Amino acid sequence: MKISKVASIVRPSPTLSISTKAKKLIAKGEDIVNFSAGEPDFDTPDNIKQAAIEAINSDRTRYTDYEGIPELRKAVAKEVSAYTGIKYKADNVVISNGSKHAIKNALAALLDPGDEVVIPAPYWNSYIDIVNMLGAVPVVVQTRVQDSYKITGKLLEQNITEKTRAIIINTPNNPTGMVYTKQELEDIALLAEKYDFAIISDEIYKDLIYSNKLLHTSIASVSEDTAKRTVIVGGFSKSYAMTGWRVGYTVSDKKLTKAIANIQSNSTSNINTIAQYAALEALEGPKDQALEMLKHFEHRRDYIAQRISDIPMLSSLLPKGAFYIFVDVSKLIGKTVFDTPLKNSSDVAKILLEKYKVAVVPSDAFGIENYIRISFATSMRDVVEGANRIEKFIKENF
Ligand code: GLU
Repeated sequence: MKISKVASIVRPSPTLSISTKAKKLIAKGEDIVNFSAGEPDFDTPDNIKQAAIEAINSDRTRYTDYEGIPELRKAVAKEVSAYTGIKYKADNVVISNGSKHAIKNALAALLDPGDEVVIPAPYWNSYIDIVNMLGAVPVVVQTRVQDSYKITGKLLEQNITEKTRAIIINTPNNPTGMVYTKQELEDIALLAEKYDFAIISDEIYKDLIYSNKLLHTSIASVSEDTAKRTVIVGGFSKSYAMTGWRVGYTVSDKKLTKAIANIQSNSTSNINTIAQYAALEALEGPKDQALEMLKHFEHRRDYIAQRISDIPMLSSLLPKGAFYIFVDVSKLIGKTVFDTPLKNSSDVAKILLEKYKVAVVPSDAFGIENYIRISFATSMRDVVEGANRIEKFIKENF
């Protein structure tokens, strides 16, 4: 059977593939520390689960509006308006099947084949494949460690062409944990206005910031013009431990929202009705369990960052948000361990998994070499044990 061109260029998601492999090994009884997927180890908060049970028991189990239930769209609009200062309404919102789906909907509504999308690296892997799936062209821009892996106005301007149609900004960032400041976002917004392109602002980690002094800023808040050209993407997976429920959203200008809704109506219809009622409770119900999770993430962040800085040959910047630490392993590259030359971060990740039973994501998945990503959205026991094993790997071999 002939496979389409699109299918042949799309890779399996590396984050999901590695995490599936790790989960399979764990199920077989292997003692693996799973630092791979960005999936909170916590259970979904009780009030959210109860809301879903109530939705089933009261027979809220039919199709909904394909854009999502009005109450949830309104609740999302209210929340996003509160932190952006932009007055969004329910008809600016489409509820989608997770934020990955929201990103795909938004890009499908914006791009024609051949259009270019600027993607700063390190990036979250799926951006590239989604853009490729649409026949558009990812323009990967390497950021610099001295800029905390954030794209600067200067770097962006050098990569704009007549075909530039959009940029994808992700703050807090996966895989680096870095957070854009208002000034940095203003520089990008100015260029978006000057060269007239759209902004996909992936804000899935907006609730996970580890400093009272640091606030999440959405690029949409820069100005009314910027808001009009920005699609904010968010979701419930990370903040409310709801990865399996698959609820995400786009918030955008009304015309674009209609286009996104049309696309969704012909692909998935509405998302799972019960999950929508659960998400509504996440936004409107008590948030104590979500805040508790945040405290745990912060504690784990502090711990793993200290351990990494204490291990010779490894280094990282302190993540300010999300739940990943991006570790520079370049000092290991070119060395040989267990008769295996370490040519790149994939070789490092392979040895860590096979010999030390720690699953991490090598950074080629994120468009940059010589790093590994550690997700600390796992139990404190695993964070401690995983750090011990990584330390052992370094001490025994170098
Ligand atoms: N976003 C998470 C990660 O980067 C979940 C897996 C995925 O969808 O890529 O690990």
